[in-house]
Amino acid sequence: MAGQANPFESLQEQVDDAAAFLDAPPDVVTRLKNPERLLETNLTFERDDGSLETVRAYRSQFNGDRGPYKGGIRYHPGVTRDEVKALSGWMAYKCAVVDVPYGGGKGGIAIDPADYSESELERLTRAFATELRPLIGEDRDIPAPDVNTGQREMNWIKDTYETLENTTAPGVITGKALDSGGSEGRVEATGRSVALAAREAFDWLDRDLAGATVAVQGYGNAGSIAAALLADLGADVVAVSDSSGGIRAPDGLDPRAVKDHKAETGSVSGYGRFAAITNEELLTLDVDLLVPAALENAIDGDLAADVRADVIAEAANGPLTPDADDVLAEKDVYVVPDILANAGGVTVSYFEWVQNRQRFYWTESRVNEELERVITEAFEGIVDAFEAHETPNLRTAAYVVAIDRIVDAADQAGNWP
Ligand code: NAD
Repeated sequence: MAGQANPFESLQEQVDDAAAFLDAPPDVVTRLKNPERLLETNLTFERDDGSLETVRAYRSQFNGDRGPYKGGIRYHPGVTRDEVKALSGWMAYKCAVVDVPYGGGKGGIAIDPADYSESELERLTRAFATELRPLIGEDRDIPAPDVNTGQREMNWIKDTYETLENTTAPGVITGKALDSGGSEGRVEATGRSVALAAREAFDWLDRDLAGATVAVQGYGNAGSIAAALLADLGADVVAVSDSSGGIRAPDGLDPRAVKDHKAETGSVSGYGRFAAITNEELLTLDVDLLVPAALENAIDGDLAADVRADVIAEAANGPLTPDADDVLAEKDVYVVPDILANAGGVTVSYFEWVQNRQRFYWTESRVNEELERVITEAFEGIVDAFEAHETPNLRTAAYVVAIDRIVDAADQAGNWP
């Protein structure tokens, strides 16, 4: 990965770029570029051998003008204060772009979960949930899964919160297992919105997604499901990768079979005897659609110069640096921005929370239909802003839409005191 840009600075630059198209006063823009609140804490937990270990954890609450803070919790050695701040900001803009009534938040623990047993991860997660307890709540701040966390961690957090609060509050967290108040369709939601956003982009560009070639970098929840659903729409997935490398299949591969292979062996490598490919080679393949679905800063300005895809749909958060955006706009590469493309995750999290509050659960087809409506309408809104403001790219148009909505909500609330 390129990996150099500070994601928080990237976020601030993206907000500045969009604010230039709006009349928002500078003091308002400053507020839109910084989190309202940041928890930085040291969690001490017991290892299986009885020793104690202390690790750093964060929760950033970026903006609550449109509703409770909302955003995932990531377990990764690369988690830093600035990364969490950036990710919380992207959440605020993402929720506004798809018009989900939430603000933005994000959290993380700077660990490699592979270094710990399940019982150690449970004690650590419960320690974090205890620290988070005064900040979170169904109407306050609602965490969710992110990189290296899933239903298991969400269930632990929910249980810790409910036990300490002596209540039931399934809507305090989303991304839960079905029997713990999760929603149908949540696991697939991020990959589904990537596929839907790509479909809308191809339609808008008058191109056929059926028969289009696709490369996917990162083969976890977002990447593997996006690949499978793009294949269902007729696209040919010709290359995929994960942190240990990738494979290239010029005639296309079966994304679900690759996912099974990864579940069995821990990697996409070695599947079907296809040729090995590095992540950098994958990102510069001559394909119709590139889906970066790993982490931030996958493509910087230098690498962007070598990118040969026509369309990029960002499944990951912040996979392109601002320099890369400039280079790609010059080359007429259309980038469907993360705050739309991967917004399916937070949209179905919202549906999960609605179902939790109503204690009434939807069918999977209702979830998927509502998601399709949200993503399709959001894409239309972004295209309208792109054309009306003549923004340089779809990302800036998406921020224009989002900033407008957040500023409206803040204006309507007024100042107090
Ligand atoms: P995940 O942990 O399930 O998968 C991450 C994948 O990326 C793994 O296959 C890993 O091997 C791969 N990877 C890591 N470093 C890599 C590298 N240097 N090169 C290539 N591959 C690499 O995580 P996920 O939930 O799929 O999240 C991926 C991205 O999508 C993140 O940016 C996350 O913030 C974003 N996202 C996820 C969701 C969601 O609901 N899961 C929602 C919105 C955004």
